[in-house]
Amino acid sequence: MTVVLITGCSSGIGAATAADLAAHGHTVYATARRPETLRDLASKGCRTLALDVTDEQSMAAAVAKVESDEGSVEVLVNNAGYSQSGAVETIPLDNIRKQFETNVFGLIRMSQLVLPGMREAGRGRIINIGSMGGKLTFPGGGIYHATKHAVEAISDAMRFEVQGFGVQVVLIEPGLITTEFAGTAVGSVQGLEDGPYGDFNARVGEATAEVYASRVGKLAGGGPDSVAKVIRKAIERKRPRARYTVTPSASLAI
Ligand code: NDP
Repeated sequence: MTVVLITGCSSGIGAATAADLAAHGHTVYATARRPETLRDLASKGCRTLALDVTDEQSMAAAVAKVESDEGSVEVLVNNAGYSQSGAVETIPLDNIRKQFETNVFGLIRMSQLVLPGMREAGRGRIINIGSMGGKLTFPGGGIYHATKHAVEAISDAMRFEVQGFGVQVVLIEPGLITTEFAGTAVGSVQGLEDGPYGDFNARVGEATAEVYASRVGKLAGGGPDSVAKVIRKAIERKRPRARYTVTPSASLAI
């Protein structure tokens, strides 16, 4: 049994992972910025906490609560994140900052907060939800993909920095998974109908979708449970791999 703290459990991969881990006997702290969204997970045996990964006080309080109840956070799953699409020229800088605050700085700060406890315990695991979009990019996805490329770099560097303390860092790289995740429809960028990018979808959309499909796998069909299973594997294995790719067409082969 492992003590696991997960960010972004109101829906999708976070909710599926919390439910799956609790069903397999782990002690799960499921968190969300709107704790009222966690009632179903509470009924499935998860402990629930408020946690907004853009709010220092909220992050520190959640980690302190788990540490005071359990000793240390044994596994942190950095899952909270969202996507936005659009041509780089068209996305307001404030929206880009906001996305880095959540997808990148939140993940970094959560890791910084749990590491002292993990070092003291001499063991721990940080599981970062990256993306296949952290390995490649396509027109209209540049900003989201930049955040996920950052997650790749941070995870790969941290893995070596903390392994001497008994802490492992694992990257999960889902392909396109069916969740509430909005605004990522590959090859179809919304809101560009007017202005210089008006023909964006016609010019590059279809070709992009084809390239993505050929490199990442089928575009539809994988649900969040397939990612949850891989995350559980990364937690339960004595020696986890550095990264696990989860595409709908290949998830069963992992
Ligand atoms: P969902 O939209 O279903 O879930 C995203 C979760 O992140 C929600 O619980 C959301 O909470 C939470 N979140 C957003 N901002 C914050 C914040 N500031 N603090 C705390 N939680 C926050 O999408 P997914 O389950 O698909 O996404 C989960 C992760 O998987 C993300 O990191 C995403 O980038 C990654 N991913 C998803 C893929 C996919 O195709 N679905 C593919 C590859 C990676 P709230 O309800 O409050 O907004």
